[in-house]
Amino acid sequence: MIKAITGTKDILPSEISKWYLLENTVKNIFSNYNYKEIRTPVFEETLLFSRSIGEGTDIVGKEMYTFSDRSETSITLKPEMTAGVVRAFIEHSLGKQQPLNKLFYISPMFRQERPQAGRLRQFHQFGGEALGSSSMLLDAELIHIAYEILRNLGLKDVRVKINSLGVPSSRENYKNILRKYLADKKNKLSEESRKRLDSNILRLFDSKIESDQEILRNAPLLIDYIDDESKKDFEQVKEFLGKLNVPFETDPALVRGLDYYTKTTFEIVSGKVGSQSALVGGGRYDLLAEQLGGDPTPGVGFAAGIERILLACENEGTLNQHDEKIDLYIVKLDKDLTSELLDLALNFRRKNISVDFDYLNRSVKAQMREANKLNARYVLFLGGEEYKSGSVNLKNMKTGDQKLFALKDFSEMVKIISQ
Ligand code: AMP
Repeated sequence: MIKAITGTKDILPSEISKWYLLENTVKNIFSNYNYKEIRTPVFEETLLFSRSIGEGTDIVGKEMYTFSDRSETSITLKPEMTAGVVRAFIEHSLGKQQPLNKLFYISPMFRQERPQAGRLRQFHQFGGEALGSSSMLLDAELIHIAYEILRNLGLKDVRVKINSLGVPSSRENYKNILRKYLADKKNKLSEESRKRLDSNILRLFDSKIESDQEILRNAPLLIDYIDDESKKDFEQVKEFLGKLNVPFETDPALVRGLDYYTKTTFEIVSGKVGSQSALVGGGRYDLLAEQLGGDPTPGVGFAAGIERILLACENEGTLNQHDEKIDLYIVKLDKDLTSELLDLALNFRRKNISVDFDYLNRSVKAQMREANKLNARYVLFLGGEEYKSGSVNLKNMKTGDQKLFALKDFSEMVKIISQ
């Protein structure tokens, strides 16, 4: 039997209502803040990601799905969205049409990671990107939006963590200081961390290994070495978050993996999803547009993992599935009324009433069982003596009341069912 590829998941009809709820919440909240949706292709030129996310990162180094197509172009399935959004922003000169572009997306992403709870190879993210302003109002706004979405989904056990990475020059200076601090401790670091010393030294702070953490406990912190402007901006983010009533904590070890971040970084973590606890990650990326060949354009954004959020919802007991319902089930009493049945069903459906009926030649009793199983709000009996005199019985399944309607009073039935 052919099965789905490890790390990918089918989203079955029984789960889809939760996805709809989440997606509608995302669309509503973003639209309340006047963000417009953007959709970019699932695959891009590999260079886009290696140039933006950075060669030394886990994503580019070992997680991308990269292949050559028939024209020998190196293609990569998108592992994250920011690079694609900024590429589209430059390609379509969105910055020339308006100075500030506030964008959001919902999309599948692809990373060849070791699958485990909360970590998939095809997963879904929603996120927001604001391009064109250095104002910390946008950093705070995006954190606020992410927080609002999670709260609206009923999540309570979430914590917002923020930090500032400064600008690249202050970061380079700090990396040297950190390297000096670690020079005589190299041998005590884990193998993974020793590798990161050269490739991506800041990521040492992501190590979950106790002995690494012990060494880093007394390490100099980036936040003490960032430039004055970044410091001032960081204070502003905190002030705005306070005004927006978003509880947050500063976390000097929050470094995030991607090269393109400048100044603000943030994560929202859940206490209910195990070790893969980050639901949301984001930050400012003022140099990215220029790095990708566009005009200098400050930007800030976040990405949130939908599967992880749904897992958190499940573990917090929110988003409980409400019973699926259909409006109307038509029970056919006579076998030869198929054409009348189709007409009637079509007319109701065109009035925005959901209708189903029997396709399996079942008995009246079995059709009623099906109507109950589908949670039909109303059942219409088509056939018998009533039909011969131009009428049908309509039964309210909740109250059990049944009423006779002349077929020419179709709009009366529509009115009742639509209530
Ligand atoms: P990142 O771009 O790595 O900061 O990811 C942002 C968010 O996407 C994370 O906080 C997770 O919620 C989610 N995410 C990242 N990688 C995966 C994955 N492999 N499987 C499921 N969700 C993921």
